[in-house]
Amino acid sequence: MMRNLEEVQVVVLMGGLGTRLKEYTKDCPKSLVRVGSKPFFDYELELLMQWGFRRFLFLIGYQADMIEEYYGDGSDRNISIQYCMDGEKLLGTGGAVRRALPYLDEDFLLIYGDSFMDINYEESVYRYYQGKENGNRALMTVLKNNDSFDKSNVIVKDGKIVLYDKHNTVPEMEYIDYGVCMYERSLFENYPEDTAFDIATIQTALSREGKLTAHVVTKRFYEIGSPESLKEFTEYTKYRFTEAHPAIFLDRDGVINEIVYNEDTELMDSAMNVSQFHMFPYVPKAIEAMKEKGYYVFVVTNQPGAAKGKTTLLNLYDINTLLCETTNVDDTFMCIHYPQMQPLTKEPYLIKTCDCRKPKPGLLKRAAEKYHIDLSASFMVGDSYTDVLCGQAMGVKTVLLGGMRCDVCNRLSGNKPDYILGDLSEVIQII
Ligand SMILES: [Mg+2]
Repeated sequence: MMRNLEEVQVVVLMGGLGTRLKEYTKDCPKSLVRVGSKPFFDYELELLMQWGFRRFLFLIGYQADMIEEYYGDGSDRNISIQYCMDGEKLLGTGGAVRRALPYLDEDFLLIYGDSFMDINYEESVYRYYQGKENGNRALMTVLKNNDSFDKSNVIVKDGKIVLYDKHNTVPEMEYIDYGVCMYERSLFENYPEDTAFDIATIQTALSREGKLTAHVVTKRFYEIGSPESLKEFTEYTKYRFTEAHPAIFLDRDGVINEIVYNEDTELMDSAMNVSQFHMFPYVPKAIEAMKEKGYYVFVVTNQPGAAKGKTTLLNLYDINTLLCETTNVDDTFMCIHYPQMQPLTKEPYLIKTCDCRKPKPGLLKRAAEKYHIDLSASFMVGDSYTDVLCGQAMGVKTVLLGGMRCDVCNRLSGNKPDYILGDLSEVIQII
């Protein structure tokens, strides 16, 4: 069941001493270290607010008064912020959460106040509650790492973490824990108050019991644990939030992957699961070439299959993960809604009149809000007239693929695309 992110409590660990950053944290806590024009945690908070989160609990300790003074009760941002103070004793991550027990919801999302984690939070929450229906008690986000950031410490199988152990790693471990988790409050109830422990203890135990849901994410994280990583994040924010860059928005079905024949309906349809997802062979290279020219590449796709009951949202998210693992796209934006109930609809919360179903430009708007996009130099590429209309509504240049399909061209009497090309590999010639 999908939860409204507005209702989900976000707990933020902010008590850290920031010892490795001491020249910056002498007079201020780590979360408030300035990056460009604002404190570090503002970047993560704004991201979470864009996803729709409104309820926050900050676990504070070191220079706590500065955090409370800066964020207040959240009302000036139209959110609610509660605080829980660490005691004298250092409690570790687990102990700090245990101490906050009276403030915790039955289920909550937990993040670190010194990390910038740009993931699909809606997917995390959805996967957590799906897992809970099957008896799982927590969720961990993991990144395919292959020892590149740090030692890999996770084995993932069939949507579950089957082993997480940061102290005893084995060669089968390909993933690394990413830093966004969800928990049942009850996991913390059996620990005595004011006992120090690492939250990894809970996660390792759950992974061995088979009760830890996995959410595989595909983008790296940023943190400000050291002067080098602070500098790296500062450069990143400059590129992403200060400078404007153009984007290429790609439709998915028919542009990136083949349309498939659905035996049940005897119609050509979108890929409904990973095994139906067949990417055109030229796609990874075409995307790479666009990126080399300085464009962001985003996928913007209508996927009403789950709303119509033809597949599940989990299957749609799995396709997205595969797409992000096999190409270098910067981000994906998916409309999962459909305006009317269908005979097979099993997830009725996906039925709504939204502002993101193309030809409405909601997905492009969301991308432009998340990144600083130069729309006048951007393109929308699709194989359907709704893609062209969507691009035009947003004021970007439009490219229609599948130039032989004159029926589509005719329907566009007054709204011709700027370019008509054969397939995605040709787009590089006109940008
Ligand atoms: Mg299409």
